[in-house]
Amino acid sequence: MDVTARPPIIFKRGSGSYLWDQDGKKYLDFVQGWAVNCLGHCPANVAKVISEQSRELITPSPAFFNEPSIQLARILVENSCLQRVFFANSGAEANEGAIKLTRKWGELNKNGAYEIITFVDGFHGRTLATMSASGKPHFEKLFEPKVEGFPKAKLNDIKSVAALITPNTVAVMLEPVQGEAGVRIAENSFLQELQQLTRNKNILLILDEIQTGVGRTGTLWGYQHSGITPDIITLGKMLGGGVPLAALLATERVSCFEHGDQGGTFNGNPLMTAVGRAVMESVVKPGFLQNVSVLGGYITKRLSELSVRFGLGEVRGRGLLIALDLNRSIGSKIVEESLVSGLIINAPRPDILRFMPALNVETSEVDEMVEILGDVFARILAPPD
Ligand SMILES: *Cc1c(COP(=O)(O)O)cnc(C)c1O
Repeated sequence: MDVTARPPIIFKRGSGSYLWDQDGKKYLDFVQGWAVNCLGHCPANVAKVISEQSRELITPSPAFFNEPSIQLARILVENSCLQRVFFANSGAEANEGAIKLTRKWGELNKNGAYEIITFVDGFHGRTLATMSASGKPHFEKLFEPKVEGFPKAKLNDIKSVAALITPNTVAVMLEPVQGEAGVRIAENSFLQELQQLTRNKNILLILDEIQTGVGRTGTLWGYQHSGITPDIITLGKMLGGGVPLAALLATERVSCFEHGDQGGTFNGNPLMTAVGRAVMESVVKPGFLQNVSVLGGYITKRLSELSVRFGLGEVRGRGLLIALDLNRSIGSKIVEESLVSGLIINAPRPDILRFMPALNVETSEVDEMVEILGDVFARILAPPD
């Protein structure tokens, strides 16, 4: 089905930060499967584990334990403030699980309170409930009626959250950095106030870490920048390093699912969780995350130089989730022209470019990206007087 505008290219092969199309043309990839391939295209450890695990065991059914899922769950728990894990196949499905868990907790502990306060411009996925939880203007009129119970507050405005709390409120849910909105950071002080507010009101704090988790922002989880400890987080995208894998993590206190409440045929299958285990082992290796911060700083510096040279706007981000404000609606033009020049970047909004390379991108690849982008800007924009 024609669900999105795709360029007339067929990709055949990928390695590290590069892709090749059917004509053998090479592209430098700063989108990486939409912030998914944390170790680049076709990393050797992921290829190896897929091959080995596929000969060992692929799907015994989620009604039985399997080793890779137990081992991955252990790595996630030992490296986070959460104690329970439910595996899923997509970010939206993990968020659906978070919404269901929260509603169940509300039923047991808060007289059936079910409203989850979410945020303007937030993005949580494309199922009916996660579209309803999202604050994306384009979603507003689609597929009515929506799932009810997701009033919208404003990011970094604690008063707008407090004003929405009623006896029906069971949780607040947000992204530590709003990725699809153009890399809008939830300030540390705001997250700390949210933690205080949700604790005072005995409601849950849910962080959608599908884009920020697994090292994207330079810490393993986005919440670590602010020092808060959420009740629930959801993971997806980079957790599978390119294969479909997601997870819902919660504290022991809120993990109230009973038998039959939640499940899924492919959930926690050993083929995908073995990949997740290999990805997590790479990301928690000493030095890996420091390098993400260093590279993030380097891209920010180089993009800031471009911004000054061409009279563009702010460069902002955390770790390797970075945006450049264009201050004019030329995003799709820049993306198209970059593609012609062999560079893949993304414009989440008409006036914003987003950069989400592999976490092991090399300095020389950053230089190459800046050079191509500079040429594209020079073709499309006259330098400022
Ligand atoms: C991508 C994303 C989702 C949806 O994940 P899917 O795997 O596409 O369902 C949800 N929340 C955030 C913050 C995301 O970036």
